[in-house]
Amino acid sequence: MNLKILVTAGDGIGPEVTNEAVAVLRDVAELGGHTIQIEEKRIGGVAIVKDGTPLPKETLDAALASDAVLLGAVGGNEFNSLAPDKRPEAGLLALRAALGGFANLRPCFSFKELVANSPLRPEIVEGTDIMFVRELLGGAYFGKPREYDKEKGVGYNTMIYTRDEVARVARVAFNLARNRRKKLTSVDKANVLEVSQLWRAVVTEVGKEFPDVELEHQYIDAMAMHIMNRPRDFDVVVTENLFGDILTDESGVITGSLGMLPSATIGGKVDLYEPVHGSAPDIAGKGLANPLGAILTGAMILRLTAKLETEAKAIQASVRKVLEQGFRTPDLARSNPQAFTVLSTKDMGAKVRETVKQLVAVSS
Ligand code: NAD
Repeated sequence: MNLKILVTAGDGIGPEVTNEAVAVLRDVAELGGHTIQIEEKRIGGVAIVKDGTPLPKETLDAALASDAVLLGAVGGNEFNSLAPDKRPEAGLLALRAALGGFANLRPCFSFKELVANSPLRPEIVEGTDIMFVRELLGGAYFGKPREYDKEKGVGYNTMIYTRDEVARVARVAFNLARNRRKKLTSVDKANVLEVSQLWRAVVTEVGKEFPDVELEHQYIDAMAMHIMNRPRDFDVVVTENLFGDILTDESGVITGSLGMLPSATIGGKVDLYEPVHGSAPDIAGKGLANPLGAILTGAMILRLTAKLETEAKAIQASVRKVLEQGFRTPDLARSNPQAFTVLSTKDMGAKVRETVKQLVAVSS
């Protein structure tokens, strides 16, 4: 298999964590006899400084010509005074729109070694394994009309979905559930919103194509509570853009650190992969960043774009093993630093690579 990945490392800790993710990807591919071609291009603040725009044409063209894009993060305090359409984040939004992915997959997985890092009680979070599927191109974030009229003192947005938009993201979610624990929870607000009534009707209709998957519906307000009280009960969760934005950030507390969370956006021309965290200017350049979210994002590239399940599992198993052995980046050691071997970004990446090689050697 020959996989072409464009790496847009971006700003802050983006280059630090993507370097480690790429090194792991290269090793795993080589061990499995696959070739990974890596190309690197600028995006975000670094592109504003060098190219005068947060998304240079060269970057966009290279993205459209690859099998997958791995993004680090964009943003930095020095760009905060720029107009919203000139800021680093505008480059990422333009890239997402151009690639056209509509299904944003955010796994929420609780490693048992990290349960003490969550503010929730260990017996609640341990064993959590949820795949959130957030619709990414519709709803209130894109619906028109939208306006903020300061003089009139009126602001409004339009939360709008079409049947096709709901059906396509529902199919992605049902297919994922089919290959997991066969349970899908669809989240809406159908007791109040007409757009949610459409959402519920379409998800139920699509569900008839997946009789092996159990479908349940939850209201967003109740779900916000259930996810904190009994996260283990959920397998795949599908929801619209705004609800998904809030719910996935909320569920981040289950995993104990933002630095652990991977994500993928699929369904468009080219799949886009990014760790969930931002550019973390407060720790950039200090070797303090946790690269595991980016490394697990690399595993998602192998699973979803390259269909290399064994290799994806090898990366996940290595991350688990490294945590089992007591290695931590500083964000994962806050509860009790003396109990762990605290590693820099680079050393954590190296530890995962060493472990991948050992695991593959044992299994072959
Ligand atoms: P952030 O995710 O960058 O940081 C939040 C906190 O989590 C910080 O204390 C940071 O040190 C910590 N953190 C984040 N990732 C970490 C990691 N891998 N290891 C250890 N600690 C980590 O969010 P923010 O501070 O709100 O935003 C900073 C900048 O990033 C802003 O410019 C924002 O717009 C941008 N941002 C970009 C993206 C993206 O590129 N997808 C996402 C969110 C924020």
